[in-house]
Amino acid sequence: SAIVASLAGCASGGNGGGGGDNGGSGEGGGDLIGVAMPTKSSERWIDDGNNLKKQLEDAGYTVDLEYAEDDIPTQVSQIENMVTQGATALIVAAIDGTTLTSVLEDAASQDIAVIAYDRLLRDTDAVSYYATFDNELVGNMQAWTVLNGLGLTDLEGKPTDGAPAGPFNIELFAGSLDDNNAFFFFNGAMDVLQPFIDKGTLVVKSGQTDIEQVATLRWDGETAQSRMEDILTSSYSDGSQVDAVLSPYDGISRGIISALTDAGYKVGADFPIISGQDAELDSVKAIIAGEQYGTIFKDTRELATQAVKMTTAVLNGDKPETNNTEDYDNGVKVVPSYLLQPVIVVKDNINDALVKSGYYTDAEING
Ligand code: BGC
Repeated sequence: SAIVASLAGCASGGNGGGGGDNGGSGEGGGDLIGVAMPTKSSERWIDDGNNLKKQLEDAGYTVDLEYAEDDIPTQVSQIENMVTQGATALIVAAIDGTTLTSVLEDAASQDIAVIAYDRLLRDTDAVSYYATFDNELVGNMQAWTVLNGLGLTDLEGKPTDGAPAGPFNIELFAGSLDDNNAFFFFNGAMDVLQPFIDKGTLVVKSGQTDIEQVATLRWDGETAQSRMEDILTSSYSDGSQVDAVLSPYDGISRGIISALTDAGYKVGADFPIISGQDAELDSVKAIIAGEQYGTIFKDTRELATQAVKMTTAVLNGDKPETNNTEDYDNGVKVVPSYLLQPVIVVKDNINDALVKSGYYTDAEING
């Protein structure tokens, strides 16, 4: 039966070794799938990698999972290596969405399927499909979180009756400009915030409102911390207060929180309203502690499931399910995409969103 098993593996286009009883039914059949993740410095990518590996292995694939520690040449050579080893599909979350063009062209010329994971792969037609969240909605939600914390709207952006007139001082942060998502998040947030800025309800005292001015290379928390410190010195030394900070990612929020804490802001007194993204454990604790107002939860288990479905469909010659064929133009083509729904998390719904869904245990959050 070992022979039968290995024949079955070959019949389904695999390189042997995989589940012998799938009868070539479109299950993995031992095919090698390369999974390229950007960094282990943020929890979410560790979860994404683990979820993908597990779900792909459960589907009968063999997995090469690599992390590049935010170093572009490392990611390029990891992907080259996956191609050399005979991967039949690549699932890629790029560090810099524009730097993988030539290795991906090489993969595509060998009929290797390329799925962009969470972050769009830009400037190439080698990418077949894109699995991500509704990134513009993530940006809207980050803005609604801030407005809600200031008492101006509910969590869907509906104006609150008897809302305070303000003005409130807000500072803006964006993510890394080499990540296409950073633009979607920031533009999505500014669509919501701009009318409040135009009315004078919100004031960006530093005057820094262009994405180039407010971006944070590689989403780095320390970079954000120093920029917040500089802003406090240059624009708030006159005794004025920061009331809110738009932050695109929990790691950046933690840098901002450190700068504010060092400058003497106190929770329960004058601590600003701060947004975030990813529901990282330390940040969920910061929400409970009142340092951060909210975060955007993107269930990495669902994203992995979607990417695995896409991979399986492409390898079987089927058309994967998509729900957006308009918004993700990568500079060469509009990449057919599946967008998942993000969820706003504030203190009140931590339990419903994160514990009941099994994403964290109660002990992890409260322990
Ligand atoms: C992801 C976010 C993440 C950020 C920093 C973005 O591409 O969509 O979930 O917070 O990268 O890792």
